[in-house]
Amino acid sequence: MIQELYQVGILAESEFCEDLDFMAVPDIQEECPAAKSEQELREYFKNLSIKRKITHAVIHCAATQPTASVSSILNYWKNTLKWQNPGYHILIGTSGFTVLSDFNNVTNGAIGYNACGVHFSYIGGIDSSGKPKDTRTELQKHLLKVCLEEIRRLIPNIKVIGHNEVAAKACPSFKVKEAYPEFWTGK
Ligand SMILES: [Zn+2]
Repeated sequence: MIQELYQVGILAESEFCEDLDFMAVPDIQEECPAAKSEQELREYFKNLSIKRKITHAVIHCAATQPTASVSSILNYWKNTLKWQNPGYHILIGTSGFTVLSDFNNVTNGAIGYNACGVHFSYIGGIDSSGKPKDTRTELQKHLLKVCLEEIRRLIPNIKVIGHNEVAAKACPSFKVKEAYPEFWTGK
């Protein structure tokens, strides 16, 4: 499905960047496709063969209500923002994760940190009035941690930051330094 939606290709730097924070994403009531478990997440990392130089892992929120569906987020990127590539590599919903892009492809996560970065995001990050809020569930907190554990295992020197450390944004609506002190490095 992802391959149908996006042209997959390695870009030197993304042409489009995430510069519209907290836009409303249509809240289509649809089941999150391919939400997978922690075990599958660890297996995904174990089977990875990373062929580009990745120096940074950047944590994001999708800047949506926690109930937003994966397909509504994909639709918004593709049809409203006209992005060619997804915003993140892995998106963590309230019931599991979805791989949006191969790690060897560049995504539209953060200006200046796309060519060198891998981007992890959770669905949510705003409250019912549209203000930034850490809406992570325990599962989302845990699966983000698993992403950081696994990427650190694969790339021991990788730097770990939140999007809000490299842009004037609330994203991911919490401080990575405080939430994941064992992984956070700063930029
Ligand atoms: Zn972000």
